[in-house]
Order: sequence, then structure tokens, then C-alpha cells
Amino acid sequence: MRKQIVAGNWKMNNDLSQTESLIYELKKIEKTSTAEVMVAPTFTNLYKAFESLKDTDIEVIAQNMHFAVNGAYTGEISASMLKSVGIQTVILGHSERREYFNETDEMLAKKVDAALANSMRVIFCFGEVLEDRKSGNHENVVGSQIKNALFHLDADAFKHIVLAYEPVWAIGTGETASPEQAQDMHAFIRKTLADKYGNEVADSVSILYGGSVKPNNAQEIFSKPDVDGGLIGGAALNATDFFAIVNAF
Ligand code: PEP
Repeated sequence: MRKQIVAGNWKMNNDLSQTESLIYELKKIEKTSTAEVMVAPTFTNLYKAFESLKDTDIEVIAQNMHFAVNGAYTGEISASMLKSVGIQTVILGHSERREYFNETDEMLAKKVDAALANSMRVIFCFGEVLEDRKSGNHENVVGSQIKNALFHLDADAFKHIVLAYEPVWAIGTGETASPEQAQDMHAFIRKTLADKYGNEVADSVSILYGGSVKPNNAQEIFSKPDVDGGLIGGAALNATDFFAIVNAF
């Protein structure tokens, strides 16, 4: 049975006191679904968030990391640094990292390797831009993002990988892929995995959808057979909305 996961990406939002307030609100809400819940505060608040949430079933995860072990990489954070403050899971390949920080598939392959070498779990993000969708090239783009960054791995590595399909045109825009568009792409992703690693691996990997998921559309999107949860941006900044999405399962 695949894990259902709802992860909130707080991006570059919330200073320390705002982080504490949001965590306080999150802890007050009852979780009625079986989905795993994760939140990704900014680096400076990870330790505080981890300490505040360690006795709950909300996992604190990181938004990014560098691939090097350590060294002269000013401003960067390594896998072992994340582990040292309790973080076990990292989001890699978010479209904002790809677009604004020039992260390439090649760089992401190294980041994935570094995370796995440190026994971390990876939420690996990818997705097409609007022009690719309009020209009908979306499956090719998504297929190569997955192959280029992940297909050097052995089948066992996929026990530690969660995929997050996030069409760039739906992130933060209020425009959501229709549940059918999400299902079609998730089925394509699963087939891409099956062609390379076989059905057992393909059927075991959780594939999240991300892109303007809100309380009013979560249930329909999550009801699709190949959608195993969501990566949530804007709506994750409000505890009530976030838990409405979590409890949509
Ligand atoms: C995201 O940034 O991963 C995301 C899905 O954002 P939003 O929910 O705001 O579209």
C-alpha cells in the first residue's frame, strides 16, 4: 500500500515568531486522515520547528540542500547539517529552484545521491511549463526530468523517494491541473517507472500532485487512483486550510 502524504512547503515565508505561531495553530487541529503530514520551514527555523513538532506526527522537512559533504560553498547547507538538527526528508528540484537558481537535472542527480548517501528521504519535484503543456510536449519533458535525475539509481533507492508532479503553470497561480490532467500525468509517471524498474517499484512509489491545491479542490484531486497526496504551497501557510487539505483524504 502506497503512503499518502501531504507536505506543506512554506518557501521563504515566516520568521521565527511566525513559524512558532503557525506551529501552535497546526498542533491545535485534529488530524482525521491517515496521510503522513510534513511541513518545510525555511532553514533558520528548522531546528526550532523540529523541536516543537518532534512529539507530534507532523514531520519537519527541508526545502533544499547542497550536494557536497562540506567545504567552500558559501551560503549552502549539507545533508549532514540537516540530519544534525533532526531532518530526515528534503524537497529537491522544486521549479523555483530550477528557475531562479539554475538547478539542472545533473545537479539534482548529485543532490539526490547526497541525500540518499545520508539515509534521507527525498521528495523529488518536476513538472512542465505552460508552453510544453500547450505544445503537447509535457510528457516528454516530465519523462526526461525523471530519467535524467533518477534513472542512475537502483530499484532499492526508490524506497526513499517520493515524486511530486508540479506543473509550473499551476504553482501559485490559482490555476490547478484538472483532476483528469493530474491522473493522466501520474499514470504516465508510474508507467515510466514501471518500464525501467518493473511494476513492483512503480506501484510502491508515492506520487504527489502540487499546484494550487486548496481545501475546495483537494478531495477531487486526491480521489484519483495514481495521486497519492499533495505538495502544498500557499494553502500550507494557513493551519486551517492546510489541515482541511490533509483531512481531505
Ligand atoms: C509549490 O510551490 O510547491 C506549490 C504547489 O505552491 P501552490 O500550492 O501555492 O501552488
